[in-house]
Amino acid sequence: MTQQLPVLVAGGGIGGLAAALALVRQGFNVKVLEQAETIGEIGAGIQLGPNAFHAFDALGVGDKARSRSVFTDYMVMHDALDEYQVGKILTGEAFRQRFGNPYAVIHRVDIHTSLLEGATETGKVEFLTSTRVERIEQDADSVTVRCANGQTHRGVALIGADGGKSVVRKQYVNDPPRVTGHVVYRSVIDKSDFPDDLKWNAASIWVGPNCHLVHYPLRGGEQYNVVVTFHSRKPEEWGVTEGSKEEVQSYFQGICPKARQLIDLPKTWKRWATADREPIDTWVHGRATILGDAAHPTTQYMAQGACMALEDAVTLGEALRVHGNDWTKALELYQRSRVARTARIVLSGREMGRLYHAKGVERLVRNSLWKGRTQERFYDAMEWLYGWNVGNCLATD
Ligand SMILES: Cc1cc2nc3c(=O)[nH]c(=O)nc-3n(C[C@H](O)[C@H](O)[C@H](O)COP(=O)(O)OP(=O)(O)OC[C@H]3O[C@@H](n4cnc5c(N)ncnc54)[C@H](O)[C@@H]3O)c2cc1C
Repeated sequence: MTQQLPVLVAGGGIGGLAAALALVRQGFNVKVLEQAETIGEIGAGIQLGPNAFHAFDALGVGDKARSRSVFTDYMVMHDALDEYQVGKILTGEAFRQRFGNPYAVIHRVDIHTSLLEGATETGKVEFLTSTRVERIEQDADSVTVRCANGQTHRGVALIGADGGKSVVRKQYVNDPPRVTGHVVYRSVIDKSDFPDDLKWNAASIWVGPNCHLVHYPLRGGEQYNVVVTFHSRKPEEWGVTEGSKEEVQSYFQGICPKARQLIDLPKTWKRWATADREPIDTWVHGRATILGDAAHPTTQYMAQGACMALEDAVTLGEALRVHGNDWTKALELYQRSRVARTARIVLSGREMGRLYHAKGVERLVRNSLWKGRTQERFYDAMEWLYGWNVGNCLATD
């Protein structure tokens, strides 16, 4: 009987939709329980490495995702004080050959739409909105979730893809977030308002003392994503609020005029006070597990949070496939395959934040790190990250 029960997925973000697609491919029906009134994404951009495209292909939505992406020619880091070029990695043909897929930038709505279309087309995914998961109960064969709207739903398993403030994680782990004190402002700018001397087909970062600025094109270059980050002067609480232009402009003192243009552009800003959590090694609790930001919330500095959520989903599907949909064995293999890799992203993210925001002598060290480095050496250093694919996603030890 439990084989006829759906799998419950808490959360209809990138991770939840990717999980739904992976589960349908293993023969399950899926119920996605989403707290918001609609299934959607915020208006901002996202970077996707080749590993994300390997995941899209494995989920059957690679062409949809590619058709909405901007494929960059390079990624570049400049020192925001003096415009010094710290490093440049070409992401054109040689990069694509090496990693079998492109580096891309895309509007978050477009990536979410690609997954949503794919999940809807299967006819095997039911979407329930205004449905906030609050409590989970389990017996030997099933999971029952109780929702804020009074509904209960029973499934053969529960995938908690309910984001950084996951209720599923709270019930089983209940660990505190680590609020970084770093504040992120994001905005999307029309091409006509974006400075010509920054219209690069690249994922671009300007790194400065206690701050950095990111920009890249979206939607065929019709729009540009702008993200600026700084160390807040005041204690912060994890979350999103409306931002103010005045606050952004009160930071970034001493930044070169070329980079400074970025903070003068947006008419409206959204403000994120960010957090991550210490990596944990237990993601599975009976028939419930966590995935995406619920499992490994991270700072954004590796630009890999969503990529990891996509990888999680594919790996979960593969673990079910090799274990003939035996949930106990599959969840154990899923966890074993994902914990170290995603923890590496969380810990590397913290180090990247330090590197980006370096000052004084540490800044000089950062600026000397990649002098004279060949593209091949850059690519070798990225192999662990971008070399991931469905064929090597499962732990073998
Ligand atoms: C500034 C910034 C830049 C970033 N840039 C990149 C990048 O370039 N590349 C990249 O790969 N990643 C990037 N990320 C990370 C990426 O945004 C996240 O890792 C990704 O969105 C996580 O997806 P998710 O589905 O796990 O969680 P979420 O996107 O948080 O989705 C969770 C969903 O669950 C729902 N939900 C929450 N609680 C409940 C509940 N109790 N019941 C039901 N539903 C619930 C929410 O409404 C939401 O729809 C960035 C993040 C930030 C903050």
